[in-house]
Amino acid sequence: MSKTTQPARVLVTGGAGYIGSHVVLALGEAGYDVLTYDNLSTGSRKAVLAGDLVLGDLADRELLIRTLEEFNPDAVMHFAASIEVGESVSNPLKYYRNNSVNALNLLEALRTAGTGQLIFSSTAAVYGNPEQLPVFENAPLQPINPYGASKMMTERFLADLTQADAAFRYVSLRYFNVAGADPASRLGQDYANPTHLITRALKTALGIFPKLQVFGTDYPTLDGTCVRDYIHVADLAQAHLDALRYLAAGRPSAIFNCGYGHGFSVKDVIAMAKAVTGLDFTVEETGRREGDPAELIAGCEKIRRELGWQPCYDDLEMILRTAWDWEKKLAAAKP
Ligand code: UDP
Repeated sequence: MSKTTQPARVLVTGGAGYIGSHVVLALGEAGYDVLTYDNLSTGSRKAVLAGDLVLGDLADRELLIRTLEEFNPDAVMHFAASIEVGESVSNPLKYYRNNSVNALNLLEALRTAGTGQLIFSSTAAVYGNPEQLPVFENAPLQPINPYGASKMMTERFLADLTQADAAFRYVSLRYFNVAGADPASRLGQDYANPTHLITRALKTALGIFPKLQVFGTDYPTLDGTCVRDYIHVADLAQAHLDALRYLAAGRPSAIFNCGYGHGFSVKDVIAMAKAVTGLDFTVEETGRREGDPAELIAGCEKIRRELGWQPCYDDLEMILRTAWDWEKKLAAAKP
């Protein structure tokens, strides 16, 4: 791989986590030299299927700088973060520390080490309750929970830094609802206390949870439950490789939505989970969860046009099937 056409070495913070581990594997398979930097607070060593792991925290500036100077990456991908909307409402400072302050540490370390390219894991939560759907990248940023606000702040750091320093360029990928698992079941989501809808539904089907709660049935949507744009993790991994090539080609800093441009309600997802698993499970309709916007659907033309992104798994059934294969594998491996 020629260094002049694409970065050969990529440092991945949070590479032992759900999305990061899928990207690390995709990087390894594409021939990149990859190094994961992770404190294993939620990730797992065995999820790192390509390259080495540095056990480290983003608060540890010395280790961060040393790692950057020794590995000398062409680009950094920054996944390591806290990601639960509900928890961010009850524990906002955790989110500002892990997502904003730690990102600042990383940016300062990048400057010290002279690393000039970053791909940032942002989120559709920066939009809050969008005024128009689908929501495009230039929509106003009005997050309604600390999770979205903490990521929005980091986007601001990035925008200001690239203005001040032309040698620094970034791509910010605003993820919609990432779900599914590696189609070969080598990787998937594996959190101690999963909160995301698809994982909760499948674990309920397996009997790990007694029931699935539906958080709110009075939203202004077709069936009263929240609507989300679910994107398969393998397609999201591909978006990161496309973003790397974009930066390596010398293109300017940019922000891209990552979604398919259509949404499913909580009830749609539950019906699909029952169909895919062939299992019935208890569903309880309950009150709203704090911090949830009614509907999020990506305007996704920009990423297709400018990164040449071509998703392969734009299919809710496929998302559920790959997640289900993974959940069965996890359940079989655990006592
Ligand atoms: N949700 C739900 N029950 C659950 C988990 C989630 O009804 O056990 C709803 C949640 O309120 C939201 C949607 O499912 O409307 C997607 O939530 P998730 O946590 O998967 O992702 P988020 O949109 O918060 O990133």
